[in-house]
Amino acid sequence: MEIACLDLEGVLIPEVWINFAERTGIDALKATTRDIPDYDELMTQRLAILREHKLGIHDIQEVIDGMDPLPGAGEALDWLRERFQVVILSDTFYEFAEPFMRKLGWPTILCHKLEIDNAGMITDYKIRQPDPKRASVKAFHSLKYRTIATGDSYNDVTMLSEANAGILFCPPQNVIDEFPQFPVAKSYAELQAEFAKASLRDI
Ligand SMILES: [Mg+2]
Repeated sequence: MEIACLDLEGVLIPEVWINFAERTGIDALKATTRDIPDYDELMTQRLAILREHKLGIHDIQEVIDGMDPLPGAGEALDWLRERFQVVILSDTFYEFAEPFMRKLGWPTILCHKLEIDNAGMITDYKIRQPDPKRASVKAFHSLKYRTIATGDSYNDVTMLSEANAGILFCPPQNVIDEFPQFPVAKSYAELQAEFAKASLRDI
C-alpha cells in the first residue's frame, strides 16, 4: 500500500502568512524564513505583531476563511485520494489550516498547534516534534507503507529524501538548482503523471 505525503502551502493552498499580510495590510507579517531564517524568532515576531494589532484566532480564521485553495487543488487532491492513502504533512498550525481543510473535504493533516487563551488571543505555539515531515515518512515506513511525497520548498527536502519517491511541485528556481535529484512537476497534471510514474501499481 502506498501513502501520498503532501506539503500544504504552495501545493494545495497559497502561502498563508503572505496572503494574510496582504489581506490585513500588515506588511510586517510578510517576513518569511527567507528574511528571518530562525523559525522560532520569526514566529515570536509574528505573534507579537498579531497581539499589537489585537488580532485573535477568530479574526485570523475569518480572514483565512476568505482565502481559497489553489485553482484545481480540490480536484487534484480527489484524484490522489482515489488512488492512494493521502496525508498532508505541513509546518502550519491546525487553527490556520482549518478553514482550508473545510474547503478540501477534511483530508488528514499532521501539523503543529497554537496555544490560545480564553480571550482568543494566541499566546504561544507548539512544534510537535523536530523535522516532523521526515519523522512522519519514517513512521509510515515502520508501518510497512511505501511513500511518495511532494512539496515546493526547502522545508520539504528531508521529507522528499526520506520518501521512496520525492517530487518537487512548482518550486522556485533556486530549489530546482540545488536539488536536481528530484523530478519537477509544474502543474497538477504533471504531478499526477509523476505520482503514476513513482507508484508501483498501474495507475
Ligand atoms: Mg510549501
